[in-house]
Amino acid sequence: MIYERVALIGLGLIASSMFWAMRRDGLAGEVTGYARTQATRDTARRIGLCDRVCDSVAEAVEGADLVVLCVPVGAMGAVAAEMAPHLAPGATVTDVGSVKREVIDVVGPHLPPHVHFVPGHPMAGTEHSGPESGFAELFEKRWTLLVPVEGVDVAATAKLRQLWEAMGAFVEEMEPEHHDLVCAVTSHAPHLIAYTMVGVADDLRRVTDSEIIKFSAAGFRDFTRIAASDPTMWRDVFLTNKDATLEILGRFTEELFALQRAIRMGDGDHLHDYFTRTRAIRRGIIEAGQDTDAPDFGRGAKR
Ligand code: NAP
Repeated sequence: MIYERVALIGLGLIASSMFWAMRRDGLAGEVTGYARTQATRDTARRIGLCDRVCDSVAEAVEGADLVVLCVPVGAMGAVAAEMAPHLAPGATVTDVGSVKREVIDVVGPHLPPHVHFVPGHPMAGTEHSGPESGFAELFEKRWTLLVPVEGVDVAATAKLRQLWEAMGAFVEEMEPEHHDLVCAVTSHAPHLIAYTMVGVADDLRRVTDSEIIKFSAAGFRDFTRIAASDPTMWRDVFLTNKDATLEILGRFTEELFALQRAIRMGDGDHLHDYFTRTRAIRRGIIEAGQDTDAPDFGRGAKR
């Protein structure tokens, strides 16, 4: 057991995956949970998600030695304000939000000096959300980035690292601004591009009826999976990681124009060189064990 009592605030994909992983390996003595709506709390009770589902944040965090904020980034500040007076002295407060500078700015000021604040972000997810979407293996061999605030207790950070590692994650510490830029490149901008591509296809669909769905090829299908991600979560990501996302999108637009020009001018060498360079990135991801080399992401066998 790593923590005696863990409180999960918000009971969606990430919280439920954490619960199943902690339960499987006996990492926490008791896990309490709180979700905003009665419907989610009822579902959690029905499926046995958490040892105790509470009807208030105050009740959930009482006596917890680890509190994990698992709500959308835009809701973190309000939830932190509500729970702050009820936190136990010596507790560690962390979160799983996809943006770190914003979470530090909106959560930090509410926390009393007697708790340790160690923000975090598991770089693992699916396009599914809600209390029934979680599974114990979600974090295995995926990175979790910890962004400890300045001056925080080293032992508190080490203990949280131990929990993530026990759930199967690789862990690295990072500065908040660097985290937000890395995520803008690897996750946030790609999601926006997927949303755009699917939006364009949706506009076209009005012209070509159901052809886009009927003949949907692998490339487009992969975009639709990403573009099915939770609208609230992703709205908050873009609103709170504005600068880094705009920086990456600016670069993206420049590259897109260069490729567009190469196509117009029939510059095959430019296209070929570019695609050769990008193919090497894919090889690197596979070699790092972060994806499968199976054709069609291993989906072929299920067809
Ligand atoms: P999720 O499945 O959509 O669940 C969100 C939970 O937050 C629900 O229990 C919801 O309660 C609660 N909630 C929503 N709005 C709230 C509000 N205004 N006040 C209080 N509670 C609220 O979300 P998730 O995918 O687990 O994401 C949780 C966090 O993890 C987000 O900050 C996200 O950025 C981060 N994250 C997500 C992924 C991913 O791929 N999904 C990956 C890494 C990190 P109700 O059900 O009662 O509404």
